Amino acid sequence: MTDQKKVVEILLSVYKVLDENKEFLTDLDNVIGDGDHGINMARGFAEIEKQADALVGKDIGNILKTVGMTLVSKVGGSSGPLYGTAFMKAGMTIGAKTEIDMNDFLGALEVAIEGVKARGKSTTGEKTMLDAMVPALDAMKAAAADDADTKAIFDAGIKAAEAGVEYTKEIIATKGRASYVGERSIGHQDPGATSFTLILTEISKAY
Ligand code: ADP
Ligand code: MG
Repeated sequence: MTDQKKVVEILLSVYKVLDENKEFLTDLDNVIGDGDHGINMARGFAEIEKQADALVGKDIGNILKTVGMTLVSKVGGSSGPLYGTAFMKAGMTIGAKTEIDMNDFLGALEVAIEGVKARGKSTTGEKTMLDAMVPALDAMKAAAADDADTKAIFDAGIKAAEAGVEYTKEIIATKGRASYVGERSIGHQDPGATSFTLILTEISKAY
């Protein structure tokens, strides 16, 4: 079970890992995009860090909705609105809960993915964050159905997300800025799929 305090702690450690990987993510985006993904993500979560004390007092649904609205309003580019929508949708599903379990997490990830797809008019196979998110969720659901423990469920998700990042190297980008470089995007991993994998890995460490 994860309570509000732990959710906020996780958000702060997500900020830390995104900040530490700011250059790495931006370098990836430099190759196939406009070189701002790391800056965007770190800036968005820095805003969330500023709100941390106020967030602890909210229920988990409201914490996630606030994170989503902050990302939408403070982060430029496509990742702000896309990750922002993901967090807002997750928050709506979690609602007034003050503790969440693995089932809640998987349900929230599912609607978050639906939110990204709707907002981005995108699906898997287009070299985006979805190529890490969707396989991660599928693997976690399969592990959960097999009665795996929390650590094993997260490990399955991280492994699938990492494989998804590898897969993005093989395909041409057909959504977002990377689609402008066409065939030249082959051989390079997607920044958004990479940031999602970093975030999921960080969340898993809290368990
Ligand atoms: P921008 O592309 O506007 O500069 P970022 O660099 O912050 O924004 O984010 C780029 C990432 O956003 C990509 O690596 C990709 O994963 C994701 N992305 C872009 N467009 C879409 C979309 N339509 N659907 C899903 N993800 C997308
Ligand atoms: Mg960019």
